[in-house]
Amino acid sequence: MERQWEDIIGHEEKKRALRTMLHEGRLPHALLFAGPDGIGKKMLGRVLAAALLCEADDGPCGRCDSCQAFARGAHPDYIEVVPEKNGKSTVQIRIEAIRAMQTQVSRYPVLSKRRVVLIDDADCMNEAAENSLLKTLEEPEGPVTFILVTSARSALLDTILSRCMLVSFGMLSVDEVREVLRQQDVPEDTAGELASLSDGSPGRALALLAHDGLQLRDEALAFLQVLPHLDMEKIWTKSAEMGERDREVLREWFLYLNMLLRDLLVLSEDGASPLIYHQDIREKLLALLPVYPEYIVFSLLREVREAQKRLQSNASLRLLLEGFFIRTRDIMARVS
Ligand SMILES: [Zn+2]
Repeated sequence: MERQWEDIIGHEEKKRALRTMLHEGRLPHALLFAGPDGIGKKMLGRVLAAALLCEADDGPCGRCDSCQAFARGAHPDYIEVVPEKNGKSTVQIRIEAIRAMQTQVSRYPVLSKRRVVLIDDADCMNEAAENSLLKTLEEPEGPVTFILVTSARSALLDTILSRCMLVSFGMLSVDEVREVLRQQDVPEDTAGELASLSDGSPGRALALLAHDGLQLRDEALAFLQVLPHLDMEKIWTKSAEMGERDREVLREWFLYLNMLLRDLLVLSEDGASPLIYHQDIREKLLALLPVYPEYIVFSLLREVREAQKRLQSNASLRLLLEGFFIRTRDIMARVS
């Protein structure tokens, strides 16, 4: 898992700021890396961890004992806490995991001058875990740096937020996403296509590649085709059915819905526009235009974005979908 600052694509300003603070010894003992999924927050957190642990001044040097142990994933002073899979889609960081981390942290560092704890998906901590972590953040025993990573900052307790320095990350540019995909040996034209579909998130682009995104795209299209005729009974069956699926899959489904709606907006201006995401289904999209006037599409896009936000929380998927379907059906009833 050894990486250097230069291996992380994008986020130049944040990297510079972190390196300067590190170099000048001004890095606070708790940081919160917040921003959308799949843009490299955790990777950057690991580089920062390696740098903090490295023997060199402006690390990670990649050569010292610390860097080598880190690269093997066996650094005794580095602790990574991740959510446990609990059933199919719920993930949680429980107090036991935080306590185990605290025990480790309370001992003196072995190889480096400090310890580093990275908590990934920190928003998955339950309340007990958060309260327990809070105590350590307030009064850390010994030299330790905490890096919390999250894509749902608002799900964290205010008391945790107020003790961390916030570093907030934005999306990457299409070119940067393409560069990340190239790094991962994705063929050039696929990389270009995925980069434009991924909304600035290389992680999402790679997920699309892994999950056969096109099938989900077609499902999203099918939804737009039935939406004008949705009744309550269909809404209940559909929410129950889709609520069984993986959160990640639903995230992609909403992403496609978002892109299809944006295509509809472009097509309503110019049916022959080359600027749509989904050239291959242009005719099917054109057929939808009469039932999707612009003002309706704008309202639907708002609902989609709202649902995408709520997907980041631990909300029940079935209820989330039910609410979404009901609201979108109500919007469709306004078509005049
Ligand atoms: Zn080193």
